[in-house]
Amino acid sequence: MKICVLPGDGIGVEVIEATLPVLEKAAKGVTLEFQHYPAGAQHYKKTGDALPDGTFAAAQAADAILFGAMGWPDIRYPDGTEIAPQLDLRVRLQLYAGVRPARAIPGIPLPLADPRAKEIDLVVVRESTEGLFASRGKGTVEADREARDTMVITRSGSERVHEFSFRLAARRPRRSLTCVDKANVFTSMAFFRKVFYEVAKRHPGVRAAHHYIDATALDMVRKPWDFDVIVTENMFGDILSDLTAGLVGGMGMAPSGDIGDEHGLFQPCHGSAPDIAGQGKANPTACILSGAMMLDWLAERSGSAVLAQAARRIEQAVDEIFKTLQPFEFGGRAGTREIRDAVLSNL
Ligand code: ATP
Repeated sequence: MKICVLPGDGIGVEVIEATLPVLEKAAKGVTLEFQHYPAGAQHYKKTGDALPDGTFAAAQAADAILFGAMGWPDIRYPDGTEIAPQLDLRVRLQLYAGVRPARAIPGIPLPLADPRAKEIDLVVVRESTEGLFASRGKGTVEADREARDTMVITRSGSERVHEFSFRLAARRPRRSLTCVDKANVFTSMAFFRKVFYEVAKRHPGVRAAHHYIDATALDMVRKPWDFDVIVTENMFGDILSDLTAGLVGGMGMAPSGDIGDEHGLFQPCHGSAPDIAGQGKANPTACILSGAMMLDWLAERSGSAVLAQAARRIEQAVDEIFKTLQPFEFGGRAGTREIRDAVLSNL
């Protein structure tokens, strides 16, 4: 399996370094060929190119893409926007389903005091190619008086992300999918929900429901354990998935996959974290779990039982280590290397 590795900036590089040996060890029996390519803010600073053509071509040709983090506060495009090749990759490779699982991991302190917080096990699927982000780079300001960004919801964009989410929900024990929207106010959101229920007819085995984004924000604090899979618009998913990451202990614990019909890119939800970069304090768990998601996705595509089992073993190893280790992120002393070594020895 050829894996295109894009470490990027800051702690992206550190968490990727910690993840590769874990994947190699867990997937023994399948050769994972890791090929590193440059991209990101520091590369832009050096060359004026954040995502070189060679890197894009390699990402396109690989079996899967493993991505660290990209972006740096002081390095920006001339118009002041951030360097974010991950957003370009999502559109150019049509990675329409942003899959953001949030599962409570034993030993990690949870912000909700209710004991049921231990049962949180949900997935946010964020539509990643349109919605409000369709306006990225196209917003307008008229005479310094009025600014506009336009939300775009298409039938084909909605159908494919709903279809993906129903299939995902069908593979999980609770088989439940909630469409999160603002259909009571916006025409585009009502359309998103209409297409959702059309697709639902093809999946009678999955319980389909809808919920407004504001009510979902409330219920994420009151009873997040009730949710199974959620499908939502790009901007709502952006915000909601940071909230769900917070519910299970923060950015260092939150993995993600950006998945399309042809390509899959896997990355921790966090950014390059300039405040802790270079100090060995980054928690690599989110990246390691993203790597496990990658193996699982490759397993499904290739039918490899070894890879499917490797993904499970990584998750099980991660579930063991925080019974004794406390990451820096939660006031403990365990850094990148300690966490990597603990996962390796538990494998
Ligand atoms: P972006 O906009 O690229 O998502 P950001 O600046 O919003 O990035 P992060 O870079 O994710 O956010 O960092 C947010 C906070 O979380 C920082 O204080 C950072 O140190 C912390 N953080 C992020 N990832 C980790 C990690 N893997 N381990 C420990 N702390 C982390």
